[in-house]
Amino acid sequence: MLVDHLGRKIEYLRISVTDRCNFKCIYCFTHQNWKWLPHKEILRFEEIEKIATVFAKLGGKRIRLTGGEPLLRRNIEFLVQKLSQIAGITDLSLTTNGFFLENLGESLKKAGLKRINISLDTLNKEKFEKLTGVSAFEKVLKGIDIALELGFNPVKINTVVIRGFNDDEILEIAKLTLEKPVEVRFIEFMPIGKNNLWDEKHVVTVKEIKKILENFSKLIPESSFGGGPAKVFKWKDAKGKIGLISPVSEHFCHKCNRLRITADGRLRPCLFSDNEINLKPILRENRGTLEEAFFLALKIKPVKHNLNFTLKPMRAIGG
Ligand code: SAM
Ligand code: SF4
Repeated sequence: MLVDHLGRKIEYLRISVTDRCNFKCIYCFTHQNWKWLPHKEILRFEEIEKIATVFAKLGGKRIRLTGGEPLLRRNIEFLVQKLSQIAGITDLSLTTNGFFLENLGESLKKAGLKRINISLDTLNKEKFEKLTGVSAFEKVLKGIDIALELGFNPVKINTVVIRGFNDDEILEIAKLTLEKPVEVRFIEFMPIGKNNLWDEKHVVTVKEIKKILENFSKLIPESSFGGGPAKVFKWKDAKGKIGLISPVSEHFCHKCNRLRITADGRLRPCLFSDNEINLKPILRENRGTLEEAFFLALKIKPVKHNLNFTLKPMRAIGG
């Protein structure tokens, strides 16, 4: 079992399969002059499978594929299939901007993917284009419906709330749960990468969000699939749930159960710390073992984050 120096049990690995993305979300696409990683730097599927297998052997149970946009990675369903067959991995999930779900949803389901998170920050078409730089609002909405039709369960919707941008839509977005069996998760805007937009003033705290939701109707506490940092609620008679995630106003580092692998093969113990362990010499030059790297990560995992801007943008770390 993987237990870190503070007794935190680590069973969740988030793997970024690419730093590339077809969207340019204003809160994520920072570092305008950030160069895409060269292809040879990006982990190959066999390498990801090796890492995941060792993680499972050491007691890891849950894996999430992310990016960048993970569905941009060619033949991603092959990787999903491989990972879904690893003994000990009981939960395999993926975070996506939803753009390619119309084409890939079915093959991902067949490959063994069980659940999916889709990002959606606005219900306004023009705002969507301003936020992402892409005219794809309807396509993403369709992606959400397709995910539900295909039986992914749960389907979660990630919404980053930014004051002055989409805080006026909190209630409307949450009301999706009245009609659809989705879990809408409101996430506080985090200072990742050199983000000129980030400012404490732009952060809408979970406390504020909760108040808006409670004013509409009483929130009933609920359980969430897989535990995790979200506090989960439900409105009476709603089909779906609402999750509130507070990395900025109320950190949850004491119960952090995760490690990350960046697209270029670095084991990253904390989202907010650029202290990483390079796995490529292990994978490509036989220098050391993946087990040793995981144990080192447990030793250096920070006690808590201090909300420093990270050097890398979110899409290079893997959100
Ligand atoms: N491209 C996929 C997507 O958008 O879902 C997966 C990668 S994206 C980096 C993963 C998640 O990180 C998304 O839900 C996104 O909203 C979130 N994210 C990115 N930058 C963020 C920030 N500065 N604060 C909070 N969440 C952020
Ligand atoms: Fe791309 Fe996801 Fe970042 Fe948006 S949040 S730019 S979709 S990686």
